[in-house]
Amino acid sequence: EPGLYIVAGPIGNLADLTPRAAEILRLADVIAVEDTRVSAKLLRHAGSDRPMVPYHDHSSDTLRARLLERMVNESVALLSDAGTPLISDPGYKLVRDARAAGRFVTSLPGPSAAITALTLSGLPTDRFLFMGFLPAKVKARADALAEVSALRATLIFYESGPRLSASLAAMAEALGDRDAAVSREISKTFEETVTGPLSALSTRYADAPPKGEIVVIVGPPGEAEPASEEDADAALLEAMERLPVSKA
Ligand code: SAM
Repeated sequence: EPGLYIVAGPIGNLADLTPRAAEILRLADVIAVEDTRVSAKLLRHAGSDRPMVPYHDHSSDTLRARLLERMVNESVALLSDAGTPLISDPGYKLVRDARAAGRFVTSLPGPSAAITALTLSGLPTDRFLFMGFLPAKVKARADALAEVSALRATLIFYESGPRLSASLAAMAEALGDRDAAVSREISKTFEETVTGPLSALSTRYADAPPKGEIVVIVGPPGEAEPASEEDADAALLEAMERLPVSKA
């Protein structure tokens, strides 16, 4: 069927390409990619000889219009360098415009580093917020963190090795010294997840910035401090006073 096919690729392990994704990559009329050299490797792995065109959301409107036009009669696959397109990657504007133009749009699910790291963290998963990459500038970073500090949710950040320690310190400062997890090289040979309070993780990585790709997961703010014994006794007495009293 003609239209837009959003195709999730692996996040480091080629074997994570789903059979359905591989099939679409072999059948699509054209594959819109971030970087043709990076995607060429995956296409080879999938046995695809389909043509690629570079696409970014800041690509010209003309280029996007041309892709939208092709979707009338052809299948256009959208592929990122890694993982799920649109997740800290290009594609949002293409999907928006394809929908507005009434094109067929479907998405082939697959890996995303954010969700995989969340499942590795041991932190609550019932409510989470994906923060993407924090701004590089100190003030903008502090502002972005302050904005979410009161949220009762687990936070997910993408990070790079050289910035990791400073980012963890900024998080401890803005969010409190919460429990966190640092996952790197997920699905690759040197996959590793280290957990601990933000301050300890920041110290750990200060002298030895880790190599590779990194996701930071930060737990929600702690529960309210447990009540003191006196407060607990007072609450218990009050509750008992409200109980119906049985007359002997
Ligand atoms: N679209 C991708 C996804 O669905 O995960 C994310 C693209 S974003 C430009 C790249 C960032 O994702 C990296 O800087 C890193 O923070 C994270 N990432 C990607 N692959 C990873 C992996 N194998 N292990 C840990 N983090 C990874």
